[in-house]
Amino acid sequence: MTDRLYYDDAYLWSFEGTVTAVRPGKKPGQWDTALDRSAFYPTSGGQPFDTGRIICTGSEANVLDVETDRSGEVWHTLDREIPAGTAVRGEIDGIRRTDHMEQHGGEHMLAGAIWEKLQGMTIGLHLGEAESTIDVELPEGRTHLTDEEVILLEDTVNDRIRLDAPIRCWFPSEEELSSLPLRKKPTVTEHVRIVAMGDFEMVACGGTHPSSTGRIGLVKITGVIPAKGKARVSFVCGGRAFRLFRTYMRSADKAGAALSCPVEKLSKAASELNSRVAEAERKARKFETAEILDMIREKESREDLRGLALSAITLEERDAKAVSAAVSAYISDPGKVLLLGAGERLTFARSADVKIDMGELIRRVGRGGGRPDLASGAGIPECVGVARKILMTEYK
Ligand SMILES: [Zn+2]
Repeated sequence: MTDRLYYDDAYLWSFEGTVTAVRPGKKPGQWDTALDRSAFYPTSGGQPFDTGRIICTGSEANVLDVETDRSGEVWHTLDREIPAGTAVRGEIDGIRRTDHMEQHGGEHMLAGAIWEKLQGMTIGLHLGEAESTIDVELPEGRTHLTDEEVILLEDTVNDRIRLDAPIRCWFPSEEELSSLPLRKKPTVTEHVRIVAMGDFEMVACGGTHPSSTGRIGLVKITGVIPAKGKARVSFVCGGRAFRLFRTYMRSADKAGAALSCPVEKLSKAASELNSRVAEAERKARKFETAEILDMIREKESREDLRGLALSAITLEERDAKAVSAAVSAYISDPGKVLLLGAGERLTFARSADVKIDMGELIRRVGRGGGRPDLASGAGIPECVGVARKILMTEYK
């Protein structure tokens, strides 16, 4: 079984070892390689594997994946074959691992605070590419957190991070284990490893952790949504929290410059701008509605359709709401039949007193449907002419 060096030192970026077994990997050109000792972390407990290199005299392989099997052996997927018995040096990508330790450590701190402040029990950790999530079982089946609760958790966790309390990991004896105030019961019964984050959190965990809470850096909750009867809390920690802050700040600065206002007044300025845009759109739509209605009326003819007024008209693409308003206005008068194409959209409509099924008519010439008095669909502009011919023939 591989001697897992990260248990004793989570900041061991380089180590010496010997290849003990090699087998073909899942893909051609890959080899699953076991070492007698390794500081590479295998995917487990929601924390992704480490990457890095395995180096031997005259050769060097990239570590593409790290997994553990049931016997506890750690298998490194390499892009080069290194024979069993070879003495090697392993080099871990410390930036990637540090990022994982920040997220994982932050998750412990959050879980501890959620338990202490809200009596919520966290289940599982998903450490994603951009952010991480934990599902929280809250009292009375609540699936959300209030803004105040989010702030309470963030402040509690970040205050404790700034206290820079030591983080300790160890394998206690059975006797010691039974006396420890663990936040939740361990899921394994043998070789239980405990992590204590200062006095704030103590649980069983086989993962890698920063050496003190200060090295988590910063924790920011980015969202809370209901998921499977629990509250799913997403968050970022450490370098990710800083980068998120930088992204938000850049966006806010640009938006502030565009709206000529300081960042603190952005939401007020944006809401005022929205109101002004909505008002301008309302005026423009009113104008466009009147213009379309004029065009519909200009095309109106009273010949050959049982004395009804028929307007068959094709327009360029127009604002859908303006078209709809013009159509409604036109058929509000009695005795009107309208066949209208605007862009690829067809609208066939008639006044309440006219007995023609416009839904059926639109289905005969294009795609769509609707009520007998108002139907819409899609079709080429020629559909309007075809529908006109049908009416002239069948309703003459
Ligand atoms: Zn852990």
